[in-house]
Amino acid sequence: MVHDADFWISNIRYYGSSFSGDTTRQRIKFSDERVCKSHLLNCCPHDILSGTRMDLGECLKVHDLALRADYEIASKQQDFFFELDAMEHLKSFIADCDRRTDIAKKRLADTQEEISAEVAAKAERVHELNEEIGKLLAKAEQLGAEGNVEESQKVMDEVEKTRIRKREAEEIYRSSMPASSFQQQKLRVCEVCSAYLGLHDNDRRLADHFGGKLHLGFIEIREKLDELKRIVAEKQEKRNQDRLKRREERDREERDKLKRRSRSREKRRHRSSSRDRRRKTRSRSREKRHRHRSRSDSRSRSHSHHRSRDRSRDRSSKSKSSRDKERTSRDRDRSRDRERRHKKRSFETANGKSEERSSEEREAGEI
Ligand SMILES: [Zn+2]
Ligand SMILES: [Zn+2]
Repeated sequence: MVHDADFWISNIRYYGSSFSGDTTRQRIKFSDERVCKSHLLNCCPHDILSGTRMDLGECLKVHDLALRADYEIASKQQDFFFELDAMEHLKSFIADCDRRTDIAKKRLADTQEEISAEVAAKAERVHELNEEIGKLLAKAEQLGAEGNVEESQKVMDEVEKTRIRKREAEEIYRSSMPASSFQQQKLRVCEVCSAYLGLHDNDRRLADHFGGKLHLGFIEIREKLDELKRIVAEKQEKRNQDRLKRREERDREERDKLKRRSRSREKRRHRSSSRDRRRKTRSRSREKRHRHRSRSDSRSRSHSHHRSRDRSRDRSSKSKSSRDKERTSRDRDRSRDRERRHKKRSFETANGKSEERSSEEREAGEI
């Protein structure tokens, strides 16, 4: 019984940790900042180079195959453009690698015996043929492992031919320098993975290098980077074109709107000019009415307005005849004023100016 309980507890502990893994997976979405976009696109160098001499350890960002599955489903509906993130990631990784290659090359140049450019070119030829042999051997091994014996044999025939060419190149190189320096191991830096290669490496070593996980991993990363660059360029081009198209559509709409507006404005102007004519006749009749009303008007206003009452008190000190004369002339002035103002107002509204301003003027001109 006790034994069973112990077993149960240890089981809980065991599943507990994997459960907690599950909850982080649920908590975090594939679009989260912390998720490695290169991993989602199956090209993170941390994955590709794991288990090689250049194992990078764990990626700083979250790697989760379940999130990759989520992303693959979601990306069928929507373009997340994660290729850009992945491209930047791989670009900086490859740039680091190329910097390392340059440093290694410089170190070699400093430590290895200096040889003339002519001899260096001969050594280079041997290196090239070595690479070719290594690649062919790796290919033949892969084909053999896949059970493709016939194809594998064809590649092995090619390896033989290349070996003959290599021996010839070695002879040329050897004859150009003393035997002692030829025996020295000449190193070269692999341009793909920045590993050191020996000029006199045997076929086995060369095959291991060129068919090895490290070198092939770097080839994969470089190819993936080229592909990402192409995809990003295509998508950006498409986005630019879409943006351009949208802008053109917007411009066209804007132009149409303006055209419509100016057309309706023309119509309105046409309408308003006829309205203006109508209004003028109306205001003329109003003028007449005003002139008619002006006397009673001023009287009623003098009752309601304080100021005008004061004024009327002022006026009372003046003689009646002068007051009368004054009033009639003022009334005439005022009605003429009003007439002018009315004309002005109707002109202004026709011009699109606010009615408010003319009413302000009306008030200002009242006294
Ligand atoms: Zn990663
Ligand atoms: Zn390599």
